Amino acid sequence: MAQSLDQLLEGIRAGRRAQVSQAITLVESTSVRHREGARDLLGALAEDAPATPAVRVGISGVPGVGKSTFIEALGSQLTEAGHRVGVLAVDPSSVRTGGSVLGDKTRMSQLAANPDAFIRPSPSAGTLGGVARATVQAMTVLEAAGYDAVLVETVGVGQSEVTVAKMVDTFLFLTLARTGDQLQGIKKGILEIADVIAVNKADGDREREARGAARELAGALRLVRGQAEDWAPPVVTCSSLHRTGVDDVWQRVLAHREHLGADGLAAKRADQQNDFTWALVRDELDQRLRESAAVRAVREEVRAALLSGELTAPLAADRILAAWDGEHGAAD
Ligand code: GDP
Repeated sequence: MAQSLDQLLEGIRAGRRAQVSQAITLVESTSVRHREGARDLLGALAEDAPATPAVRVGISGVPGVGKSTFIEALGSQLTEAGHRVGVLAVDPSSVRTGGSVLGDKTRMSQLAANPDAFIRPSPSAGTLGGVARATVQAMTVLEAAGYDAVLVETVGVGQSEVTVAKMVDTFLFLTLARTGDQLQGIKKGILEIADVIAVNKADGDREREARGAARELAGALRLVRGQAEDWAPPVVTCSSLHRTGVDDVWQRVLAHREHLGADGLAAKRADQQNDFTWALVRDELDQRLRESAAVRAVREEVRAALLSGELTAPLAADRILAAWDGEHGAAD
């Protein structure tokens, strides 16, 4: 890192893009030296967290549903209203292949050119856990730089939605008009974690259909979520292309936040911090396990024994853990 921590901090606090960008690169890095730098940076930022926490919103939906069009529309509205908008992405495909479905700046060309918006593509930090770690820290950097609305975009692949839901205040699910059997295509899990649902592309010939679909979806949601919960996720329609209903979606997001209340929000974030802490611990242990000389020493032997049928998986696991314990002097 060419700059000192103080220079970086000063730049972030002044909301300068270059330093915000550098800081995010730092928290995305997997190198041990950078991790230490990131820890110092985040420690310093934690000391002057903004009095009003930024609105953190997760936005999910299948490719083609209109996420980037929606974010362009919403982002423009918010910046026109005087907000500063950060957009991050959690893209599992960037982990696997290095390519990405999301986060490509050219997808949101208007917002990318907006001085009050900051768009960052998904990091490709090896694992979904690694991406999540980087994204949570990037949110902190953006908040410290005065971005009061942070949108985290993700696609409905694997665990990514759940991962994002765990790092935001409100989770928004974008979908298309589906009725009857097609509703089955929506993962039940997503209905369980969504706080607000919007049926996008409610324009032209599809407007009526979208309204009908929203009603059906609201019914399905009641079945999935039951009456026990105190927040009934609203299902609304919008057209990101024509920019209608987008503000209504945002009002629902704010209503959800209002519903949480200051204490509820603080408690939710504290819980998330706790989960995040343990995720970091698991991540770190996994890393150490991989790097352990003792574990490396037995790895091939255990693999050979497994392949020849000499060892079963539980016994093989015991042997690996024994090697680890031996190295760390664990008492039994
Ligand atoms: P993403 O993959 O979820 O980010 O989807 P995009 O935002 O790239 O949108 C996919 C396609 O749907 C593009 O051709 C958009 O122009 C179109 N689209 C997005 N929102 C709307 C909408 O509200 N109405 C209509 N008619 N088309 C839309």
